[in-house]
Formats: sequence, C-alpha cells, structure tokens
Amino acid sequence: MTDTKVTINPDIQAAFDRQVAGVTERRRNFGLSERKDALAKLADVIRNNEAAIVAALAQDFGKPETETILTEIIPVLQEIKHARRHLRGWMRPARVGLSLAAFGTSARVRPQARGVCLIIAPWNYPFILAIGPLVSCLAAGNAAIIKPSEMSPATSALIARLMAETFPPDLVCVVEGAVKTSEALLALPFDHIFFTGSPAVGKIVMAAAAKTLASVTLELGGKSPAIIGPDADLKGAADWIVFGKFSNAGQTCIAPDHLFVHASIKDAFLSHLRDRIARAYGGDRAKANLARIVNAHHAERLAGLLEDATNKGARVTQGGARDGTAFEPTLLEAMTPEMDIDREEIFGPILPIIIYDVLDEVIAQINARPKPLSLYMFDKDRSRIDQVIQETSSGSVGVNLTMIQFVHNGLPFGGVNNSGLGSAHGHYGFRAFSHERAVMRNHFSALPLIFAPYTTGVKRLIGIAKRILG
Ligand code: NAD
Repeated sequence: MTDTKVTINPDIQAAFDRQVAGVTERRRNFGLSERKDALAKLADVIRNNEAAIVAALAQDFGKPETETILTEIIPVLQEIKHARRHLRGWMRPARVGLSLAAFGTSARVRPQARGVCLIIAPWNYPFILAIGPLVSCLAAGNAAIIKPSEMSPATSALIARLMAETFPPDLVCVVEGAVKTSEALLALPFDHIFFTGSPAVGKIVMAAAAKTLASVTLELGGKSPAIIGPDADLKGAADWIVFGKFSNAGQTCIAPDHLFVHASIKDAFLSHLRDRIARAYGGDRAKANLARIVNAHHAERLAGLLEDATNKGARVTQGGARDGTAFEPTLLEAMTPEMDIDREEIFGPILPIIIYDVLDEVIAQINARPKPLSLYMFDKDRSRIDQVIQETSSGSVGVNLTMIQFVHNGLPFGGVNNSGLGSAHGHYGFRAFSHERAVMRNHFSALPLIFAPYTTGVKRLIGIAKRILG
C-alpha cells in the first residue's frame, strides 16, 4: 500500500515534473493536428518494428508470431486509425440544449486533457495493454508515464526504447520497474491513473489514488464464465471456446475461465472440443501455436491448482501434462466449490467443465460471485440468450463468440465492480482520459432581475418563474 514513507527515485520525480511543467504549453499547442501527428508517429514506429515486437513477445513467453500480430499489433493499429479518423468529432465541444432557467445563455461540454497520466500495464498482453491506453491518452491531449510489467522484460525494454525514440519525454516517458517503482509512481499526484491488472492490485491503486484524488480507470480481471446451451451450434461453440481459452495459453483477462455445459449436449460438445484442441495443438503443433506460461512461478501455480482439484476428486479428461512452462491444453471435470480452482482466476490453459440441467441455477451461481469481466453464451434460442443477458452482470457479453468484443472500436471495453471501473477503447478511451468540462456563457440572461434585494417585484417574478418551470 502506498504511504508517505514511499521514497521516490529522483529520476521518476524529474520525469513527472517535466511532464507537469509542460501542461500549459500542451493546452496551448497540442491541438487536433499535433495529436493526429503524434498518433501517426506511434503507428509508424509500431509498423516499422513489427519484427522486434514479435521477437520480444516470443522471448517473454513464447507467444507465436501470428498471435502477436493478431492480438497485439493489428488491434492497436486499428485503434490508432479509428482515433485519428474520429478525433475532430470527439474534440468538438458538444452544444447542450437550451433550458428555460438558463434563457439567454449558451452551454457546451468541452472535453479537456486531464494533464499528466499514469498508465500501468500487465504482462499478459504486454504491448497492446501499454500502448492501447497511450493511444487514448494522446488523443485526449495528455502526457503519459507508462509503467510496463517487469514480468515481460523484453517487451518492457522494447517499449521503453521505442517510446524514447519516438516522443519527447515531456510527452511520453517509460519508467521500467516492479512493485517498488509502481508504488513510487502511485505516490505522485497524477491527474489520471489508467491501471490494467488484477483486482487485488486494482484495490491498491485505487487506495493510492484516493490520497491525491486522482481519477482512475481500472481494467481488472476475474473468472469469466461461458455457457453452452442445449441449442448451441456445438462445433462453432467449440471453435470459439478453444480460440478464447487457449490463445495466449489462457493468459487472457477475457478468456472463458470455466464452462457450463448443458447435460443434453455434453458428450457431443466435448467431442467437438477435443477435436478442435487436437487440430490446433495436437502433436507438434503445440510448439508452434501455443504460448508458454509466463514464468515458473505461474506454471507451478497452475500445476498446484490441478493437483488440489484432482486430490479433491476432479478428473483431468484431457491434457494435464507440462514441461517446464509449456502447459498442455487441459480439460477438467467434476470441479466442486472446495477446490481452489473454483475460486481463483485460472489464467492458464485449464478449462473446467461444469454440467448443468437448469439455466436458472447457472445464473444463480454466476450472480453469487463477483461480477466477471466477460460472460459468454452459446445458444440459438433467443429467449435463453436474453434471459442470461438480462439477469446477470458483467463487463461485456459475447453471444456465440469469444474475445472479439475487445477489438470492436465502437464498444466500451471495461469491467464492473470487481472486474473494473470505467472503460477503454475508441471514444470511451478518449473520454476516460478527458475531463468533460461544462462551459456556460451569458449572452442576455434575465436572471440579474431576481438577484437580492428580494423586493416585492422580485418575489412576483419568482412566483411567475415557479409556475412556468413547474
Ligand atoms: P498485476 O496486478 O499483478 O500487475 C499489473 C501491474 O501492476 C504490473 O505493472 C505490476 O508491476 C504492478 N503491480 C503489481 N503489484 C503491485 C503493487 N502491490 N503495487 C503497485 N503496483 C503493482 O497483474 P498481472 O499479473 O500483470 O496481470 C494479470 C491480471 O490482469 C489478471 O487478473 C487479468 O485478468 C488482469 N488483466 C485485465 C485486463 C483488462 O483489460 N481488464 C487485461 C489484462 C489482464
């Protein structure tokens, strides 16, 4: 927890002070064209360094090249393109309709840069989760200090180098380091903190922000459930579940954490699931197509979850083996509430399968837990789909798909309560990094007629106003 005893490295303090000193200058000179230029530079540096980004992620946790391009590079370039295309409209002050009481005035909501922002990123998508928020931060006209994750050191070092080559440090600066560095940064009075990581650290970040009353966006995690209903397209559902669960070796905040499978289609669905796993990762294919677990600690944590579950009666019905940090896609059946895996965010390629008969009971189980980041529903029956959407809460919902809600520029991306606070992406990301400032101008307001002294004439006018305004 951040407290007054945190010592701040003079380099960190200097980096922060330099950005604060530039606030007035940026308000004056960091307008539409400068922001679009900054975003274009960012896109260029990403395009020109694609091979280096791919290599860094391969070094950090064996992420396959195609997955890096698909999940770290294309979506961030798309985010930049979308922001550049829409920035003029986002920045334009929005006129607010006339209200009778404000007759003779005009009013607008003017998005304004918050100032100096801190972006703290996790290791699991170490490039896009540091650079994606930077897109919104720059689009909104702010300076940023980025603290990438110490657990993906090759990507962190690359981000630091690329940002130093691309931007002046009073606009974008990368501070590398672990928890102590993060604590030191959190002790500084940033105007906004954009944190992506676990709910546990999210609480620490929010407590630190309370000390300076910095606004926060918290992009957190949790256990996202998926439901396979009786009328689901079973082959299609298996394709999406395998993609969502085993991309990045399951180390994805919106991966389906566990599956509820309707009893009537259990055997047929599991057979599709096994086929799809074999097609993607069977034999030698795992080496080329499956990322590693980020480090030995997490590989052991996953092995521990499996051991605890099997000791308490669960059955591994597919996979389960590991070689160091290479972990097989694993299916687990007969999970019960006493098992650690039933409580902890799995964050790895282990997929518990829970068989159900009654949808209401599944909904009750989901609602008995903290609100997840995502919830997935596979079915063709509209009333069942609507029931799940209506009666549960989560950051986002995917119907007959997984994961790709993340890349839709028009959708807010974020959690609710335990899975997060506020939203990222597109206009929502721009708004997260902007203060929506109310600006009201007087042209010919008649209100001075009712200022004190409250004469009989004033009282009469107020009586008339009361009748009109209701
Ligand atoms: P984490 O919370 O351990 O770390 C995230 C960042 O916080 C890192 O930069 C780390 O250095 C810093 N940090 C760690 N401990 C800290 C402390 N005590 N004080 C201050 N800073 C601290 O998360 P992680 O392990 O890197 O990532 C996995 C978690 O992130 C999962 O829970 C996952 O669901 C979540 N996640 C969420 C999203 C999203 O968009 N909602 C995306 C990716 C990951």
